[in-house]
Amino acid sequence: MAKINVLDSEYEKLQKDIQALNDKWSEQCSDIIINGIEKIKDMKAPYLSQLELAIDFHQYRSFIEELLALISCNKSELKISADKAISLLNDDVLQRWFKEAIAVNDIYFKKFAEENDLPEWLPMFAAEHAVRPYLQKAAEKLKDKLKKSDHNHGCPSCGEPARFAIIDKSGKKELTCPRCLHSWEEKKISCAHCGTEGDLVIIKIEEEESAEIHACHKCKGYTKVIDVRQMFKKESPTLLDIKSIHLDYIAQEKGFGIPEVTGAH
Ligand SMILES: [Zn+2]
Ligand SMILES: [Zn+2]
Repeated sequence: MAKINVLDSEYEKLQKDIQALNDKWSEQCSDIIINGIEKIKDMKAPYLSQLELAIDFHQYRSFIEELLALISCNKSELKISADKAISLLNDDVLQRWFKEAIAVNDIYFKKFAEENDLPEWLPMFAAEHAVRPYLQKAAEKLKDKLKKSDHNHGCPSCGEPARFAIIDKSGKKELTCPRCLHSWEEKKISCAHCGTEGDLVIIKIEEEESAEIHACHKCKGYTKVIDVRQMFKKESPTLLDIKSIHLDYIAQEKGFGIPEVTGAH
């Protein structure tokens, strides 16, 4: 099988533009206050679901506006919906979007879209992307605590399923969260979802020496593993995750998926 690149150039450009926006936001993002660290009880649940982040909501709003402006510039037919979404962002809605975006509550966002006659994907897409600079800042601040967390199969910080890893400079397998950018080391040959070692198979990708899929016969989960040692250009995990979407298709075609996060390793 030849190397497949399922991303069309238009989509890839949009993703790169969104990434550039995210990089800019990361620099601009004002300080956040994390409340409730001392109250964390469940060391296995994602930390950010148990904490409260105090942020500048005007800034969160401006991130959403910038993203929606980029989207409507890219697809002019979305302009009316984008403008309408912005007009709905009062203080209550903004606070709710922030909270539900951290929790990836797609039921809430789908309902919001339906009630306000917006494209189904739009509110969640905007709210979730604009929340990422805060998640990244929080993960950075919580770094030392997160190292000690007895985490589940997903990202110990934000709960995103562990579906992406890199082989780093020292040859170690580093699970990396494309959402909050927290990374943690895992045994090279073990399932990132259920921790099993015996049932893991490594699917090699023809003509792509730097990519593998680690798939598990026990829980049916998979993780994409990209060896970045051969790469000339350093790219963000978020972009590498998007660029390797063909690996998701290959894994899913073979019957693997992203298991629900339950129980611990
Ligand atoms: Zn994360
Ligand atoms: Zn597994």
